[in-house]
Amino acid sequence: MSILSNEAGHRPIVLTAPSGIDRAAHHRLDEAWLAAAWSHPTTRVFVVSGGQVLIDDTPDGRTELVMTPSFEAPVTETHRYFLGRDEDGVSYFALQKDALPGRMDQSARPAGLREAGLLLSPRDAGLMAHAVALENWQRLHRFCSRCGERTVIAAAGHIRRCPACGAEHYPRTDPAVIMLVTDEEDRALLGRQVHWPEGRFSTLAGFVEPGESIEQSVAREVFEEAGVTVGEVEYVASQPWPFPSSLMLGFMARATSSEINVDGDEIEEARWFSREELRAAFESGEVLPPYGISIAARLIELWYGKPLPKPGNVA
Ligand SMILES: [Zn+2]
Repeated sequence: MSILSNEAGHRPIVLTAPSGIDRAAHHRLDEAWLAAAWSHPTTRVFVVSGGQVLIDDTPDGRTELVMTPSFEAPVTETHRYFLGRDEDGVSYFALQKDALPGRMDQSARPAGLREAGLLLSPRDAGLMAHAVALENWQRLHRFCSRCGERTVIAAAGHIRRCPACGAEHYPRTDPAVIMLVTDEEDRALLGRQVHWPEGRFSTLAGFVEPGESIEQSVAREVFEEAGVTVGEVEYVASQPWPFPSSLMLGFMARATSSEINVDGDEIEEARWFSREELRAAFESGEVLPPYGISIAARLIELWYGKPLPKPGNVA
């Protein structure tokens, strides 16, 4: 039986659930179509600035991206990103500005993706992740990597063109692997990064290197960080992680050795946990769970078999 068929496998992963947005990439180079979409009365626009957006709570207890019609949107000196359309034909744009607009009402507040991703609907979280990823890329790629000239935005935010040498630059995504390693006793290997708050443990993770397969990357990272060798690797799911431009590729991996030898550089401590040991450590507060938005929490939950206990709760 696949680990994905247990109770925890059926809940959507934050930022990975279908957003209901068609990116409609074929319209990105059609300036006339984009102008018509922008000025359509149903179009919705939000501002992204420094990785943050405005979010607001609704009377019925949900949290939404604060969006306005385009005629209310601030357009001076902004980058305009076309993000796609929903099944009702509503178009969505993000405007990149140096600052978020002033508060529109008392409850609207700025939030980054780590906070907002847990609160927003899959549609709004998906729109935000797309906009934040484009903003990060635009900010870091203002100059041509081929000739050094300043580049200009094109394709509604999805290309930067070099006017000097004609090069077109596309948004980059850096693959990273994140894996829950289990041993022959079905214990899970969790590690502590050097700069994490005391008690926080999570799955191991790292970037895929040039010329490397993702399976090789899983094995290399686990050995580098914890000294454990890995055999079978099973892909679980991916998660966009625009901090600033990663894609997390999530795996379950089976260890072929059990002795731990941490690198002390990235990972300060690593431990094997049985389910009972992890439950007790969470409940006593000795171990803090990984950050909620991350696919790491879901990988651990998939192994655990049900939602993770909260500190102080008896499951
Ligand atoms: Zn150039």
